[in-house]
This record gives sequence, C-alpha cells and structure tokens, in this order.
Amino acid sequence: MIDCGEGTQHRLAQYKIKHIKIDHIFISHLHGDHYLGLMGLLKTMHLLKRTKNLYLYGPHGLQEIITTQLKYSQTHLNYSVIYKIIDPDITETIFESNQIVVKSFPLDHRISCTGFHFKEKEKPRRLRKEKLPVNLSLSDIGKLKRGEDLLDEAGNVRFKNSDLTLPAKKLRSYMYCSDTRYNESVLPLAKGVSLLYHEATFLNEDELRASNTYHCTAGQAATIAKKANAEQLLIGHYSARYKDIAPFKVEASKIFKNTLLAMEGETYEVSE
Ligand SMILES: [Zn+2]
Ligand SMILES: [Zn+2]
Repeated sequence: MIDCGEGTQHRLAQYKIKHIKIDHIFISHLHGDHYLGLMGLLKTMHLLKRTKNLYLYGPHGLQEIITTQLKYSQTHLNYSVIYKIIDPDITETIFESNQIVVKSFPLDHRISCTGFHFKEKEKPRRLRKEKLPVNLSLSDIGKLKRGEDLLDEAGNVRFKNSDLTLPAKKLRSYMYCSDTRYNESVLPLAKGVSLLYHEATFLNEDELRASNTYHCTAGQAATIAKKANAEQLLIGHYSARYKDIAPFKVEASKIFKNTLLAMEGETYEVSE
C-alpha cells in the first residue's frame, strides 16, 4: 500500500480488499491526507489477530507518532511493525525481493517528501513447450530459462537456446510521485517507466498557486511524463477547488497523450 489517507479502511471494505494481504506500507510524507488512516488500520489489523510482521517505510517521525499513540492507548500489537526510516535527500533501495526492487527518491514539497519506484527484476526466458525435447532434466530447464544452450558431454551444442525459448516478458515499472513542485530531478529514475503516477493538484491557470503550495499542475505532470518518455501517465490529488476534473485530462493530454485520470475505486493495470 502506498500512502494511507483517512478513508482507507472504508475503501478497503468497499472494494473487498483483505487487510491480511497488506504486508508493506509506504508513506510518502506526514501531511494528514497521506497517513492519517494508518493508525486505525494498524489497530484493525491487531483486532483481526494479525501475527505476521508489517513493514512500514516512511519519513523520520512516523515511528515516534505511532509508538506514542500505542503507548498512551496502552495497546500492544499482536504483530511486529518493522520500520524503515527513509532518507528524504537521496535515492535509495528500500526493499528488494526475488521479483521486485523498490526505491525511494526525493520530491520537492513543503515538508520532507519522497516518491516510490517499483520495478520488476529480471525474468526468465519463456519456454516454447511445443518445441521442448522429452526428458529434459530440471537442470536443463533452468539453463534454458537463463538463456544458456544445452550441451552434450563433449561440450557440443545439443540444443540451441533460441530454438527452444522466447525472450522474457518485459520488466514492468510503476513510479509514484507524491506531493511535489515541478521537479525534473525525478527524470533519470522515471525514464521509460511503464506507469507514472504524478500528482496534479492544480491546472496551469493556477500555476503560481501550485508552486507557492509546493504542488504541480496537470500540464507540469504531463511535461514530466513526456520528458521521461513514460508509457502511461496517471494523474490525481486534484484540489477540491475544482468542481469538474475533466479539464485536467484535457490540459495533460495536450502535452502527453496517454494520460489517465485517477478515479476513486478504479483499477489501473501496468501493461506488459
Ligand atoms: Zn503534502
Ligand atoms: Zn497531499
């Protein structure tokens, strides 16, 4: 889960997402709209008898806020919360598994704020099942998936890898640019990203207000997507001052065609 606003628990219930599926929560910064739902969620996980660890990534101060609240409510969680305090000034790897690498990176907001970048790790080549010789050993299959040819005992090529496999699927990536001013320092990491989420709190007509409040316009978000050569842009975090959000799409699409508006309850796929 990335950020956890006040309404998070209602939304989880509404869209039937089980708490137990959430093991890692990434908090971009300590403005209320990004983390005020966290305490309630932690408490609910406790009441639901969670025992497995919960991993929490966030800025300095988050751990203190949570431990203070737990202390004064005399709550002892059934499970452990493992904190990773993020350095807001650098780009760093904060999580890595066999499938994925997560990095945090600095944004330009009124208080310390970071975004998150998720990228799949190298995938195996795909076996062409119809071409596979019978009686291949597990070790042979491993070699094929790694791109190696199969050799006989004398070291001659028995089967060429390219005859039996197809290239691995594309590595997908997702980048979450939370609250920020227009900030080109994200471009190197954003290069070619599959799906870029970028805040767009204002329209270009309120550009001054955007920079004074450390936010972006739809046009600026689209400029980042364009300069980064992103495949797709998803904008959100619209200011409540706009009654109609259709102009956000119009403004962004003029600069970056493949723009989507983030809407409550919608699912957006990171395409392969
Ligand atoms: Zn903020
Ligand atoms: Zn915000």
